[in-house]
Amino acid sequence: MSDCLFCGIVEGSIPSQTVDSDERTVSFMDINPATPGHALVVPRAHSTDLIEIDPEDLAAASVAAQRLARRMEEVLEPDGFNLLNACRPAAWQTVFHYHWHVIPRYEDDPLELPWIPRGGPEEEIAAIAAKLRSDDG
Ligand code: AMP
Ligand code: ZN
Repeated sequence: MSDCLFCGIVEGSIPSQTVDSDERTVSFMDINPATPGHALVVPRAHSTDLIEIDPEDLAAASVAAQRLARRMEEVLEPDGFNLLNACRPAAWQTVFHYHWHVIPRYEDDPLELPWIPRGGPEEEIAAIAAKLRSDDG
């Protein structure tokens, strides 16, 4: 079994609020959301960061991030988005499996970068995940 947290989420051995998946990627809610709806997109295949990732996985993860942002646009009606990738500790990376942060932004949200990770609210995250998964929005 892999000791990579996001490989564990991809394999299903670590629980997550998964909201989208395809052949190459899995998307799930961030447990420390920077704003309501903050989610992560990862390639199924392990790679550490932007420098290592296979270009086809990078392309697939980017397309999945756009798909997720479009879904958020319908369901959460944010005012904008930040797509963020942290590559190496000097650039705030803490989990060493490539990921896009898809962060919906709201005109009056108080987010400043880098945000300070704070756990949960678990129920709110689960409720947003259910909306993002459902077909009727
Ligand atoms: P980074 O600092 O760019 O490497 O981002 C790692 C992200 O993973 C952070 O925003 C964390 O809140 C998030 N994270 C850590 N553990 C989990 C987990 N078990 N499920 C979902 N997100 C997580
Ligand atoms: Zn991994």
